[in-house]
Amino acid sequence: MNNISEVLDGVKKVGIGGHIRPDGDCVGSCMALYLYIKNNYPEISVKVYLDSPKPVFDHIDRIGEIHTEADGDQEFDLFVTCDVSARDRLAIVDRYFDRAKKTVCIDHHISNTGFADVNYIKGDVSSCCEVLYGLMDKDKVDQSVAAAVYTGMIHDTGVFQYSSTSPETMRIAGELMKTGFEFNRIIDQSFYEKTYLQNQVMGRVLAESILLMNGTCIIGYLRKKDMDFYGVDGKDLDGIVSQLRLTKGVEVAMFLYEMETQTFKVSLRSNGNVDVSKVAVYFGGGGHTRAAGCDLQGSMYDVINNVTREIYRQICLETEK
Ligand code: AMP
Ligand code: MN
Ligand code: MN
Repeated sequence: MNNISEVLDGVKKVGIGGHIRPDGDCVGSCMALYLYIKNNYPEISVKVYLDSPKPVFDHIDRIGEIHTEADGDQEFDLFVTCDVSARDRLAIVDRYFDRAKKTVCIDHHISNTGFADVNYIKGDVSSCCEVLYGLMDKDKVDQSVAAAVYTGMIHDTGVFQYSSTSPETMRIAGELMKTGFEFNRIIDQSFYEKTYLQNQVMGRVLAESILLMNGTCIIGYLRKKDMDFYGVDGKDLDGIVSQLRLTKGVEVAMFLYEMETQTFKVSLRSNGNVDVSKVAVYFGGGGHTRAAGCDLQGSMYDVINNVTREIYRQICLETEK
């Protein structure tokens, strides 16, 4: 596939879906495709399905049109997933995907082996938004589409800080900026800005973090009872693992929080020498070389011990070879 028009031509009903607990790249890519179709293919009926997005994405045009639940029996001519690394990560709309006449997967996860009829996966590209933009006609990208693509790009590159940021990423960002959206407002309000409470929780996690393996591995954690105490949920914890990663001397940062009693969401970040995607895949998760995650059950100490054992294998054993 070279252009999204190849799968849109002649199609009447399109569904779009992203991954569970959608991040900026997922919301940005799903909405960018939704807006692109709305603006340029009036003859197509299109619906977008996502778990309820965080309010920080409210600047995206038509964000209120997202369906946060399946709506009855639907049969789509085409169902497109954006930023979904594996079939079991698709949120809400399993059955629509199964029943669709044709399925397309647009993604950038190195762990993605391809689960749709057409798979357009670029494992070395920084965001799904960047991959998707490559499939769009540039003269059909208006300010609303551009702002959605840009949002995904800044979220998955940490505002162009991660090594996945390429000259092409910057070129595209420049091209998008020309459409005139308020990029500085998007960066502040959707990425950096935290509530007072979020900052307090981050402070607590940093204060209680543990250094292991000669200071090369850092662990931050949050138990359910503490999340309940502060009144925060998973959506409030963005940015914590990135801050842990920036500790001098650290190769790998791990942040875990208890979603349900004894069920943990684990986020992993690496500074390059450890492939955290391998660690996450080992535990049934996935992601990228430098940013990956998995969901694990057990006591907090079991989860920490199990995951750090796999990190240790790479930090201490493989580097000795
Ligand atoms: P996070 O730590 O949630 O920001 O996720 C980092 C990267 O790992 C993202 O690209 C996610 O899509 C991926 N990821 C996180 N959790 C999982 C999981 N349970 N299964 C597969 N991929 C995941
Ligand atoms: Mn994502
Ligand atoms: Mn992504």
